[in-house]
Amino acid sequence: MSHLDDALEYFTNAARVMDVPRSIEKLLTTPVRQLKVEVAIERDDGSVDVFTGYRVQHNGARGPFKGGIRYHPEANDDEVNALASLMTWKTAVVRIPFGGAKGGVKVDPRTLSPGELQRLTRKFVDQIHFVIGPSLDIPAPDVNTNAQTMAWIADQYGKYHGFEPGVVTGKPIEIHGSQGREEATGRGVALCTRWALADLGRDVDGATVAIQGFGNVGSWAARTLAGWGAKLTHVGDHAAYLENPEGFDVEALAEHVAGSPERSVKGFAGADDSSAAALFAADVDVLVPAALGGVVTGEVAKTVRARVIAEGANGPTTPAAHRLLVDAGVVVVPDILANAGGVTVSYFEWVQNTQRFYWERDEVNEKLERVLRKAYDEVNRLAGHRKLDLRTAAFVLAIREVGKATAMRGL
Ligand code: NAD
Repeated sequence: MSHLDDALEYFTNAARVMDVPRSIEKLLTTPVRQLKVEVAIERDDGSVDVFTGYRVQHNGARGPFKGGIRYHPEANDDEVNALASLMTWKTAVVRIPFGGAKGGVKVDPRTLSPGELQRLTRKFVDQIHFVIGPSLDIPAPDVNTNAQTMAWIADQYGKYHGFEPGVVTGKPIEIHGSQGREEATGRGVALCTRWALADLGRDVDGATVAIQGFGNVGSWAARTLAGWGAKLTHVGDHAAYLENPEGFDVEALAEHVAGSPERSVKGFAGADDSSAAALFAADVDVLVPAALGGVVTGEVAKTVRARVIAEGANGPTTPAAHRLLVDAGVVVVPDILANAGGVTVSYFEWVQNTQRFYWERDEVNEKLERVLRKAYDEVNRLAGHRKLDLRTAAFVLAIREVGKATAMRGL
């Protein structure tokens, strides 16, 4: 099963609950536009390398397309399509007025120098600038891209279209970024975790947590949860898996990663070596996959002992795993809700860019919590009312919203 098959299966499960006609199903699952481009750069040694770039715009019924750009050696049509569709459902679950999109370049950015990375980013913009824009399609950071990448995109886009800071979100604060955007996705994951634990009668204070991925999402989820008294006992990334039953000093771990050439938890003192299998099977209260998709397979799901899974990553759980987890009574807060904090604050950034008026961090965080809490309650209520798991309920809610917008606009 591919990522796209997984995303389609989740969509179809919900569409069947709602009796969506097959023709409308097709309309809601077919991407509006798929662009595949050549990204050719000159390397520092004078040689030329050619990479493939993608931008997929899935559905724009509810507003301009919105979605991240990732740099990863495994990026491909199938994955970008799947991720673009998830953005359509995610923006609808939190009811922000955007559609869904995703982009990427098939490249291992660790093999590029900073200069090469900048040239790659600018060349990618040269190739896609005519399909993005503040009222058209607004990229954001994702795996291996960050505020610096967004700054280059905004600058390069500006060379064609003039000053338009709202063309991307997740920019540095100094150049029209928003307070609270960097930590927003992880903060949202942490909030959903806290609420899911509370629904089980558990306090976040003292809860044990295992997190795969300690990049933007994983590290900020960890830092926020640790700030509320939770204990991170297992962590892993592309280069190492570590465990510490006493709980990691999360701030020190974040500092270690920031200073490590590999941007990894590898080599962090005072922890035991571990493995991905041990992380997923850890006897913890909460499991947060916050790296790549498809990692919680059926085999992995059989080993899970956590009571709550909060999906920081996009598409981390396969449908087979999802069924096993739901049957086992594990509360899975799905990606389209759990990691929607990022796109929510991206929306706030875009609003601030449009108004040229910037908000304080507390205001951003308070608005984020309000939006997410409303979505969390709505999904939970629907799940209870229709006897659905949280993922299916979130999809039902999203399909209903996108379906209504599509019907109102007409063809
Ligand atoms: P990032 O590049 O900042 O971090 C990625 C992390 O995953 C790193 O710790 C990296 O080491 C780890 N990783 C990469 N390959 C791995 C592998 N093979 N095995 C184990 N770990 C691996 O990216 P991010 O922005 O934190 O994104 C992480 C996930 O969250 C992605 O699925 C992304 O789509 C999703 N997401 C991100 C945002 C956002 O705002 N950045 C929003 C919503 C969802």
